[in-house]
This record gives sequence, C-alpha cells and structure tokens, in this order.
Amino acid sequence: MKIKFLGTSAGWPLPRLGCNCEICSSKDPKDTRTRTQLLVNDKILLDAGPDTYKHLVSNNPQKIEAIFISHAHHDHVLGLWDISHIYNRQQVPILFVTQAVLNGIKKIFDTNLLKLKVEVIKPSERVHLKNTKVTYFPVVHGNTPAFGIKVKESKILAYIPDFNKILPSSQKVIRDCDLLAIDGSSLGKIGKTQGHISIADGIQISKKLKAKQTYFIHIGHKSATHRSLEIYLKETAGPNFHPAYDRLDLNL
Ligand SMILES: [Zn+2]
Ligand SMILES: [Zn+2]
Repeated sequence: MKIKFLGTSAGWPLPRLGCNCEICSSKDPKDTRTRTQLLVNDKILLDAGPDTYKHLVSNNPQKIEAIFISHAHHDHVLGLWDISHIYNRQQVPILFVTQAVLNGIKKIFDTNLLKLKVEVIKPSERVHLKNTKVTYFPVVHGNTPAFGIKVKESKILAYIPDFNKILPSSQKVIRDCDLLAIDGSSLGKIGKTQGHISIADGIQISKKLKAKQTYFIHIGHKSATHRSLEIYLKETAGPNFHPAYDRLDLNL
C-alpha cells in the first residue's frame, strides 16, 4: 500500500497567519503544514479539506476513484468543491460517506452542485476497491458524528485525525494495525480541546492498540517544531513513533 501524507495540520495550517512563534517562524520545511489529508495508492483520498486543490494539483487528480470523509468539519470537507471539477478524469470519483457525515456536509454545501457520485454506506460496511478494503469505524469527537478509516490490503492502515475517545468496539477493529495515523492536535494538556486527544495521550492509546508504527497527524499550534516532536517521541515513546509531515511517502 502506497501512502502519501498530503497534509498534516489541524484545522488551521502552520504557520498561522500573523504569528511569530517558534513553530510559525521555523525555517524547516517540515514545519509548514496544510490541512490533514492522505492519498492511498494514488487513487483513494482520505478527507477533503481546504488544501485539496493545492495537494492534488501535482498529484494526478484524474486518478482519484474514491473519497472517504472522517467527519463534516470544514477542515475535512471544504475541498469537495475542488474535487468535483477535475479535467481528463478517468471516472467520476465516488464519495463514500455515512449518512451522519453526509447530513453534516449538506449543511455546508448544496451537494447537488458537487459533480461526484455519492454512495451512502453503513458505518461498518466494507468497500472493496480491487484489492483494497476500506471501512469506517465510529469514534468520539465531541458532539460531532465522526469516524476513523481502516484501509486494508496485506497490511492495515488506521486513520483517525480527530477524536477524543475510541470505544472498545472500534478498538477491536484496528488492534494490531501496521500503521496508525492519529490526532496530534496538541502536545500535552496545553491547548488540548474537548474533541481531541494530545500526543501524550496518543502514545498510550497506540501502545494499548499494539499498533506497529504510529504517525501523528492533525498537528496543532500548541505542539512543537517537527524536530522537537521527533526527539520527544523517540525519547518518550520509542523508535516506532513519529510526527508525520506534509508530502511524506510511506509504503506499507
Ligand atoms: Zn480536524
Ligand atoms: Zn505560531
């Protein structure tokens, strides 16, 4: 499985507009982060935030076959508008969504204007895209209906950008996954908000789930520079924990 981390920021990109903090004034390209979005095998898009255009313009957008959306917050759906207008596309991309998420998207867009095929699926329904199986699993993200996304070939990717709790029934679905990409909205308690875990929490959750590798995504402003996060994770969690960064490519 080919995984590209197109974007790795929380709801707002880094550097933040007008901010001069250590992260926002960093010269390290890995500290420039756009809204969290992953591309799997060049054709499956996980989330469609406001940076979708920028992410896809150099990544063969005409190959996109399927889009999955974790939840209907603006930082995960505003790019649906851009995806509905791709030239020379090989097929009309199918937006696979749960009814709860589609209801949320409809509050943001008139979905009739989006030139996408929309397929409503049940939260635990498995979508087969050739050899790739994709399933949603429910997670708790404040009061917003939200899901993690499991992508399975011979190996398993579990993608959960926004959550504050994973219920035991969903933990079972992703236990022992090969790659866990999870919410890194804050480093610790400082800046931690109601619907999110911190990176410190994420380390414990990942260990409990026995994930083989963990990459933090949805990195917020109350975290640290990429370099500091790398050192922190290596020292406190071990060699299988990393901060992701924009344009990181991994093969599973
Ligand atoms: Zn988000
Ligand atoms: Zn800043």
